[in-house]
Amino acid sequence: MTENNDRKQFNLKLVLKEIIQPKIPTIALVVFLNFIFFLFGVFTFYSAIFFIIIFIGFFLALSNEKTNSLDTTQNNINKRDKDELITDNINQIKMIFDGFPESVILIDDKDNIINSNDKANKHFFSQLEDENILGMRIQNVIRSTLLFDTLELLKNNEEVTIKEIEIILPGEIERTYDVFISQVKLFSQDINNYLLILRETTDLKKIMTLRSEFIANASHELKTPIAVIKGISETLDKYGQDDKDSSKEFLKKLLSESNRAQSLIEDLLSLNQAEMRQHIIPDKRINLMSIIDNIYGGLDGLAKKNNINLTRDIRKKNYYILGDEDDIQRAFVNLIENAIKYNTSGKEVIIHLSDNSDKVLFKVIDDGPGISSIHIPRLTERFYRVDLDSSIKKGGTGLGLSIVKNIITRHKAQLDIDSELDKGSSFSIIFNKA
Ligand code: ADP
Repeated sequence: MTENNDRKQFNLKLVLKEIIQPKIPTIALVVFLNFIFFLFGVFTFYSAIFFIIIFIGFFLALSNEKTNSLDTTQNNINKRDKDELITDNINQIKMIFDGFPESVILIDDKDNIINSNDKANKHFFSQLEDENILGMRIQNVIRSTLLFDTLELLKNNEEVTIKEIEIILPGEIERTYDVFISQVKLFSQDINNYLLILRETTDLKKIMTLRSEFIANASHELKTPIAVIKGISETLDKYGQDDKDSSKEFLKKLLSESNRAQSLIEDLLSLNQAEMRQHIIPDKRINLMSIIDNIYGGLDGLAKKNNINLTRDIRKKNYYILGDEDDIQRAFVNLIENAIKYNTSGKEVIIHLSDNSDKVLFKVIDDGPGISSIHIPRLTERFYRVDLDSSIKKGGTGLGLSIVKNIITRHKAQLDIDSELDKGSSFSIIFNKA
């Protein structure tokens, strides 16, 4: 109402200003001529009045037409202003959306996209230009029946204005998203718009699956030694007194199974610790030479027990990196122990350490049985073994190389595995020099 009144008032002013004002001299001239004609008796008083009325009526009719056209022009200007205002608002909304860490898409009540942030554009419309996205139907971009049904529900049920769903999008890699949908009214319009906030949970889901797989595997690995320990203890309890020789054998087995369970628990704890510290970048300057000096004695003992010759191919000097001393020691021991314990066919293990201007190379070389190339990419997976029996016999848990991999990742270093069947293997770590 107020808006209409304002517009009428405004138009009247316009009529006066735009139409009557420029005509004032003409009107004045006509009135003046009529007066002269009247004086000279060409017009009678009444015919002059009549003429003036007709003349003014003609002008008013003209001005009315002009007013209408001005009215339309004004409407067009109003519409253009409104459109510009909406475009301005949309641009501002996009700027706000771009600050969101999630994908944000705004659609109208016909499911057409009216705005989307950079993250959504990159994620869902990477093949399209910005202007091609606008106006597209959301169903053509995100093909989810659940999303479609939820939008329908929001449109048809006045009471529901917010919904949270999980959608799975098929593809080369199946992707999962938590989608938060809310009904919004923008630019004081009566039409409902729908705001979609999509958070990708694919990685989270993968981590959760891996974690439950890991728990299942760890329990399975622990179940075996514990079952054996239980069985032997029960047998010893019943018949231990009667057969002293068998009891000795049982006790030996008991000890080896408890060692296996203990190693497994220790490795699980190490792995957990390595994963927990993954985000903490080591900042202490450590010398790899002294780490090797520290561990060499113990490992040489193990090598001798296995009839292996453990040697060092290292030029005596300092090799500094930024690292966690305990972690690096654990990784080195793991690789050297593996080279010794799996070297059934050869007799040599070499520890190599060298550097160039910006890298330090640590390498363990053995002349053992080697590893077939099909196993190499999977060696650092948890519980992956080339040969389960031989790993168990040698006290392996299948976690050693995954612990090494975690430590190396934390140190922003690189692990290279080279191996040839019947020739031997080499495990290298390339560190950044400090
Ligand atoms: P494990 O605890 O069983 O030793 P790892 O993760 O340390 O587990 O190693 C995984 C598998 O890789 C081992 O089971 C073994 O089969 C193989 N492997 C590791 N190092 C060597 C090596 N130097 N020579 C031959 N095989 C190796």
